[in-house]
Amino acid sequence: MFNFESMSEKNFYDIIICGGGITGLLLAKKLTDDIYFKNHKIALIEKEEKNKNDRTISFWEEGKGEWDSIICGSWKNANFISDEYQSSFALRPYTYKTIRGIDFYNHFKKSLNNKNNLKIIRDNILNIKSDNSFSYVKTLNKEYKAPRVFSSIPNLEYKNQTSIPVLQQHFIGWFVKTENSIFDPNKLIFMDFSVPQKGNTRFMYILPFDKNFALVEYTLFSKKILEKEEYEENIKKYLKDKNAGAFKIVEKEAGSIPMTGYNFSKHNKSTLLHIGTSGGWTKASTGFTFKKSINKIEHLILYLKSNKPLDKFEYKTKFDFYDLLFLDVLYHHNEKGMSLFSGMFKKNNPQRIFRFLDEKSSFAEDVLLMLSFPIGKFVKALVKNFSIS
Ligand SMILES: Cc1cc2nc3c(=O)[nH]c(=O)nc-3n(C[C@H](O)[C@H](O)[C@H](O)COP(=O)(O)OP(=O)(O)OC[C@H]3O[C@@H](n4cnc5c(N)ncnc54)[C@H](O)[C@@H]3O)c2cc1C
Repeated sequence: MFNFESMSEKNFYDIIICGGGITGLLLAKKLTDDIYFKNHKIALIEKEEKNKNDRTISFWEEGKGEWDSIICGSWKNANFISDEYQSSFALRPYTYKTIRGIDFYNHFKKSLNNKNNLKIIRDNILNIKSDNSFSYVKTLNKEYKAPRVFSSIPNLEYKNQTSIPVLQQHFIGWFVKTENSIFDPNKLIFMDFSVPQKGNTRFMYILPFDKNFALVEYTLFSKKILEKEEYEENIKKYLKDKNAGAFKIVEKEAGSIPMTGYNFSKHNKSTLLHIGTSGGWTKASTGFTFKKSINKIEHLILYLKSNKPLDKFEYKTKFDFYDLLFLDVLYHHNEKGMSLFSGMFKKNNPQRIFRFLDEKSSFAEDVLLMLSFPIGKFVKALVKNFSIS
């Protein structure tokens, strides 16, 4: 049981951020850089040291950007490959950029270290409880409270329901150095569907850093994750088919990211907001989270200045609805992913696609994009989802 009567001022904060991963760090930085919050006592509670390169974060943007000093690779061209359609295209005006997780964490460690109003606490959060005045964070070692708590601690509630479809974007990626020069460092491979689909949506995603060094990722959008060996066998086979020769694995990464229209925001309270993947900030149709979190945080900072309850922050956009439709089709016709993406790349220019995925497209562009999908399946999903929403 919590006993906040005896809680010292030391354990009281104006804002507590639970989880110092990608979104928690982004939020901590924005808050502590903003003069409006200079008198706010802020805590960030994270259980890990964050000293491992546990993920590679990629995104696209126009021209120079805030993260350019820490990116490890960037590409202006890309390939899409499937049996039904192949194309090699310029991403202009976009550049696709990649940051190593460890560089991201170190960058923030350095810039957050000297913030007077921020305390970074290394502890394991056991639970968070809320009432109308405060949220209470219980850790292994202490108890804390704040009128505003933000949590990126994984929320797995979406797995305990069946009314909203849930797919996972799951993958294993190897950073490989190959004997033969098989990669084109000027072009990333956004999706290569030339691998057997086996009734799912399966593709290779390749980030080539030079002719002999790349991140090679075997990726699925599907309901069930695979045994580790199956991802790895497929990476080996891909490298063999490409005539990579002998290769050395320099680093590995793995992930399983929820792709779902599940309403994560229903777990928010007036004093507690779930953020990042656990707040539903992952783009449901693609698994991309980084740019969406940056955009959300920008809105959140403005919202906080209005002093409104946190559970009124989240709102739905037309893109949430599109994602829901796309996911519904992909969920019920998982074997059709290759055709859906092939149609999308065949009938739209890449700029429109990337703008759409960035949630910046106009309604006219959305309609054109939607028309590149099989209308019958989408109308069915539309009817069903209108009755859910
Ligand atoms: C391998 C991988 C690659 C990805 N690549 C991309 C990409 O290229 N582009 C993209 O947009 N998205 C990508 N994603 C998806 C998404 O951007 C990341 O998962 C991102 O880290 C999500 O941020 P987050 O803050 O929600 O979660 P996290 O970054 O996972 O942060 C959650 C934090 O909470 C901490 N935590 C958990 N439990 C506790 C506890 N009990 N107590 C205290 N702390 C706790 C964790 O240690 C962690 O630091 C990738 C994901 C993975 C796994």
